[in-house]
Amino acid sequence: MTNPENFLLIMAMLDEALPIINKQNLQYIGKLKNPFTIEHYSGKIESMQVNLLVNGKCNVYGVDQIGTQASTLSTYLGAEAFKPSLIINAGTAGGFLWDKAKIGDTYLGYPKVCYHDRRINLPGFKEYGFGYFPTYDCRTIAKELGLRLGVITTGNSLDFTDKDIELIKENRGVVKDMEAASIAWVANQLGIAYVGIKTITDIVDGSIPTEDEFIMNLKLASHNLAEKTAEVISWLAANKH
Ligand code: SAH
Repeated sequence: MTNPENFLLIMAMLDEALPIINKQNLQYIGKLKNPFTIEHYSGKIESMQVNLLVNGKCNVYGVDQIGTQASTLSTYLGAEAFKPSLIINAGTAGGFLWDKAKIGDTYLGYPKVCYHDRRINLPGFKEYGFGYFPTYDCRTIAKELGLRLGVITTGNSLDFTDKDIELIKENRGVVKDMEAASIAWVANQLGIAYVGIKTITDIVDGSIPTEDEFIMNLKLASHNLAEKTAEVISWLAANKH
């Protein structure tokens, strides 16, 4: 049973999440479940109860637990705890010149999210590796809110190899991140719709190294991400998704 008045919002990094926490005055509740590092914030966006989970800091290295491993866990634990009617994943991501992406643009994932770094060249396993998890049909939201649409592709590296680029192109990926596919997988397993909202911090096929461009643009992108995430949640709440 899911609760129709309740959305689960999954974000990997605290710096990405702070603007929406502040804008919507979400309250810090505490760690979701011992011994995990996942942090829980809660509040309302319009009429909608929103439980935000941020992956928290690694106990060993002290940095945000970005990537698919912690996101799988936070999504599952959050879905179990709150029984949301929708799982929303908001974050920053890389964009591509081939899709004319600009820093600060926001995309909604559609029609699928997939992996680009799970290469298994065995019959049937190739497609399993990519995943191809369907998303919520975001076409109307994108049109009404003026957002971009496209395939989000996930891997566990911030940089990329030539093979990554080849597979991203093969899958028509236009947004590169490190969490979306793992979150969509949990949502699909549980039969809960997945919405991915990604704001561009860096241009993957541009001339600036990703790590420099990411740090330069994180603040601007997270600000835009907070605005757009609140708009998308309000739209979904008003349109009874
Ligand atoms: N060095 C950074 C670490 C951020 S890693 C820091 O200390 O702040 C990048 C995060 O942003 C991940 O959660 C990922 O989902 C997203 N991201 C942004 N640009 C990306 C790109 N080009 N490729 C993959 N993930 C990207």
